Amino acid sequence: MPTARQNDLTRRLLALFEDVAGTDLAGVAPETSFLELGLDSLTLTQAAIQIKKTFKVPVTFRQLMESHRSVAELAAHLDAQLPPEAMAPVPAPVAAAPQPLPALAPMAPIASGGSGGDDLLQAVIAQQMQLMQQQLALLGGAPMEAAAPAAPASAPAATPATEPVAEPQRYDVKKAFGAIARIHTQPQALTERQQARLAAFIRRYTDRTAASKAYTRQHRPHMADPRVVNGFRPVLKEITYQIVIGRSKGCRMWDLDGHEYIDVLSGFGMNLFGWQPEFVQQAVREQLELGYEIGPQHPLAGEVAALVCELTGHDRAGLCNTGSEAVMAAIRIARTATGRNTVVSFTGSYHGTFDEVLVRAGREAHGIPAAPGIMRGMFGDIRVLDYGTPEALAYIREHGDDIAAVLVEPVQSRRPDWQPGEFLRALREATQASGTCLIFDEVITGFRSHLRGARAVFGVDADLCTYGKVVGGGFPIGVVAGKRAYMDALDGGQWQYGDDSIPTVGVTYFAGTFVRHPLALAAAKAALLHFKAEGEALQERLNATTAAMAAQMNAHCRAVGAPIEIRHFASLWRVTWLEDHPLQDLLFAMMRSRGIHLLDNFPCFMTTAHEPADVAAIVAAFQASVGELQEAGLLPGGAPQALDAGKPPVVDARLGRDPAGNPAWYVPDPDRAGKYVKYTP
Ligand code: PMP
Repeated sequence: MPTARQNDLTRRLLALFEDVAGTDLAGVAPETSFLELGLDSLTLTQAAIQIKKTFKVPVTFRQLMESHRSVAELAAHLDAQLPPEAMAPVPAPVAAAPQPLPALAPMAPIASGGSGGDDLLQAVIAQQMQLMQQQLALLGGAPMEAAAPAAPASAPAATPATEPVAEPQRYDVKKAFGAIARIHTQPQALTERQQARLAAFIRRYTDRTAASKAYTRQHRPHMADPRVVNGFRPVLKEITYQIVIGRSKGCRMWDLDGHEYIDVLSGFGMNLFGWQPEFVQQAVREQLELGYEIGPQHPLAGEVAALVCELTGHDRAGLCNTGSEAVMAAIRIARTATGRNTVVSFTGSYHGTFDEVLVRAGREAHGIPAAPGIMRGMFGDIRVLDYGTPEALAYIREHGDDIAAVLVEPVQSRRPDWQPGEFLRALREATQASGTCLIFDEVITGFRSHLRGARAVFGVDADLCTYGKVVGGGFPIGVVAGKRAYMDALDGGQWQYGDDSIPTVGVTYFAGTFVRHPLALAAAKAALLHFKAEGEALQERLNATTAAMAAQMNAHCRAVGAPIEIRHFASLWRVTWLEDHPLQDLLFAMMRSRGIHLLDNFPCFMTTAHEPADVAAIVAAFQASVGELQEAGLLPGGAPQALDAGKPPVVDARLGRDPAGNPAWYVPDPDRAGKYVKYTP
């Protein structure tokens, strides 16, 4: 019988797991194992940390997997570990999300030009007075109106996308987040056939990539790299390493063993022209000779910003090193310009590597850490809503006056077939009405889907956009661009020489040692000039190639009954599993073994360097790998068996073709005279 203290511990542990997992565990039996509850390794790691902190009893992730596998078992363990006389300590309260302070109204810009110095001084003093009044009102708790920034201009003229009819999807918060290493430690039971086929494949794979494996073994002791362990499973450990690539050109790469690959990972989408396109190589070589000074202004910086604005239609642009930096800046700009704190993001989106966006939806849309090591207190001002849902819109409409920014990945790279144009248009209306900054994270969609990115695809304008990846022409870059009213928060806005104008807009922080690196600027300029010269036809061609390839792969999956769908948007495509089969991820290794370079479950990207023959090779490797998985009994379905027309399975069977066009036996339908149904043994 559990002791009273065990019951108390059980109650507290359930609350702790609810908070960490962000799911309601009311009514769950404490004996239910964590595995049955669907808690993944990430959640269990965070739970282990929280348990140790709360009860001062060390509990490891491994124990939660192996020896204390349910709340009941864990409560018994803690009860045994805690000193008999000790009351179970009061758990450390999980930081309640602080209520956002009422926003300070942004200052009206002081009119520049024309007026004399005294007028200006008076205006500055008046502004300071206004600020002080607002601060006093804040301290007194009096409600305040937040002034909206200048209303955004109308959406750019654009062709609205054809929107597939799709239901909003609720993202499963238990799925591991982003690029975090997925490590499975449970052993797996395999049939004899599966074991034999797997062993043969592992031999084939390791023979072909022996140098990559040796490299990984050599460097594991000193190089900590999450990517190398991603996808670890005890039965697959012998092939858990990355292919090490020594050189590349166009869409081709060569590994340390000298084998050739057609690359479809395409540098996580940063590669749109193939590796080392001559126009980028040439520009970078020239810059390398001229120098790559950091510190003074570089002539290329202004040119790159001007090209970004010209091609995207934004007022102003700021340059940094990565997409993550651009998103971080966009959020900071939005908060500065609106004087508000709350930022809304959506489930299933990815926005980079800094803490505030490594977030999952917890209870009542409050953000919770998506990875261990991130403080819960981080998310007081973050709300995570379900993307594309009416509930999300209702929330934004209701709380708009408190929301600084809505951060959107217009088409999420995890589910590219979900293209909610109607939702985006409604979001634009709602944010415009409340003076909330609408941020489109176009780090993937920017320049790749259309020159003006998702804004053009959906005919929806945004106040700020973030770019990265392909703009850099192969070099690290991030761009934040958008409307003057927001971008002026980086430098105080427009002022002139030769008169009494001064920067009039309050500025926030935006800096970094390597921002505007001359080599990256040279590559970006070359890429932008190439985009300009090619026009929108470049994206149209690439998008059409991708759609045709996906259609071919999907037709094959339907024909052989493989529970896989290739989903795509623009030139991004990815394998989507329609069912879960434990070793299905072997598909990716099997494609690698056939000379197609991709990473397990990562999105793939087409480039202008992929020729029709390369596309045919990708499709052929995919089909052969699906077939190999099916033959090994690791995936259902399979190539239709050849029928012996002379041997009907039953006397009155007739030969026909099934809807996929494959030969099949048909027998008289007992319910409909004169009709036939497909024979199933
Ligand atoms: N936003 C989106 C939509 C992304 O896909 C990524 C990267 N994959 C980022 C932001 C972060 O960009 P970076 O990796 O360059 O920091």
